[in-house]
Amino acid sequence: MPIKSNRLTAEQYEQNFSDIHPPFDSRESALVEANRCLFCYDAPCIKSCPTEINIPKFIKQISTDNVKGAAHTIFVANIMGAGCSRVCPVEKLCEGSCVYNLLEEPPIPIARLQRYATEQAMEKKWQLFSRKPATGKKVAIVGAGPAGLSCAHVLSREGVEVTIYEKEKKGGGLMTYGIAAYKVTPRFCEDEVNYIISLGGITIKYGQELGNNITLAELKAQYDAVFLGFGVGLARQLQIPGEELEGVVDAIRFIYNIRAGVYEEVPVGDKVAVIGMGMTAIDAATQAKRLGAKEVTLVYRRTQAEMPCTEAELDLAKLDGCRIIWLAAPAMIKGEAGKVTQLVCNLMQLGDPDASGRRMPVDTGEKFILEVDMVIKAAGQIPFEEMVAANQLQQMQGRIIAEKNGATNIPGVFAGGDCVNGGKEVVDAVQAGKLAAHAIFDYLHS
Ligand code: SF4
Repeated sequence: MPIKSNRLTAEQYEQNFSDIHPPFDSRESALVEANRCLFCYDAPCIKSCPTEINIPKFIKQISTDNVKGAAHTIFVANIMGAGCSRVCPVEKLCEGSCVYNLLEEPPIPIARLQRYATEQAMEKKWQLFSRKPATGKKVAIVGAGPAGLSCAHVLSREGVEVTIYEKEKKGGGLMTYGIAAYKVTPRFCEDEVNYIISLGGITIKYGQELGNNITLAELKAQYDAVFLGFGVGLARQLQIPGEELEGVVDAIRFIYNIRAGVYEEVPVGDKVAVIGMGMTAIDAATQAKRLGAKEVTLVYRRTQAEMPCTEAELDLAKLDGCRIIWLAAPAMIKGEAGKVTQLVCNLMQLGDPDASGRRMPVDTGEKFILEVDMVIKAAGQIPFEEMVAANQLQQMQGRIIAEKNGATNIPGVFAGGDCVNGGKEVVDAVQAGKLAAHAIFDYLHS
């Protein structure tokens, strides 16, 4: 049962990793959907968008063929509106709260309409914003992910010079390196970053890592303010025997390798177990299948009612042929000649709720064995605790403590996105970057 690369033909890779979201096939079909919108007063869809995009307004603009205006309405609230239209869990955000759900009719396809407008803006390179006269102020941003780019764009519009320090070779953060390639293709991510920085006033320095190539003290000395948006990135370990065996990998690293390299070169097993049931677990499982794994099994210690991923993501995994075993917790990974051969799981049952109200899994004492040649761990991520502590930032288990506007305990240093919230959606990071930009601007002029 070997782990190997090059399992499929070039055509199969191309097909398996092409864009999963079908855009509208014509202007007319977009207009039909736009014209269904009731343009609700006090629209619930706006309230459930973390970036508060004025959804009825942009849909109205589409319905009157003002696509440029629609794109502006979206981007002014969320500069990554194009990417978010592909990766947001809309069934639990805007589309989930559309009033059509109450009428038991399909909700307005807000994400597809958003994509319709924003993609045209990107393709036609519409420059929808201009920069105010230079203020003479300079801000450093650590991390060219959604939080950093969002913060940079707002500040640049206000006439601030922004320099982003990014440890990777490309910008986009989680969008570029941490999400399944069939949701947002690497090409799309590159185009989105280029579109954002085409505003001007934003320089990205790649290969620059905080604590390695640069220090917070240096940035504070060289700039008028600093925004930290470096995310979370360390995979949580399972702390079970056998984790060191060949064939046991982190989901984050697995997805990163798919995103950063060539599909053909990413090795995958025949029989793969994926531990976890969040979005990263689903992305790892579906991509393992699309790389050519014969069997992929998701193992989760609770039930479907408690899973962190959405129903739509679960459906995606099922459609890709992934199997799901509920109420199972990994206990041990066994191997031969240093390579993984079995995953031993405890059968669980649900016990009392924890502080958050979710029922806790309890070991029944029964076990079962899965024959596998690859185990992908998607048990969450842990923050950069040491680096945060070394910079005297107030923190809670590595998560930077920041106010709603991003202010930290260090004057002039702001933070937002996953390094503060511990790992939420892309759209949450965009909003955090935007709020912090406004607070930084106020700080620079106070
Ligand atoms: Fe339109 Fe639905 Fe939002 Fe109402 S809730 S404004 S129908 S998208």
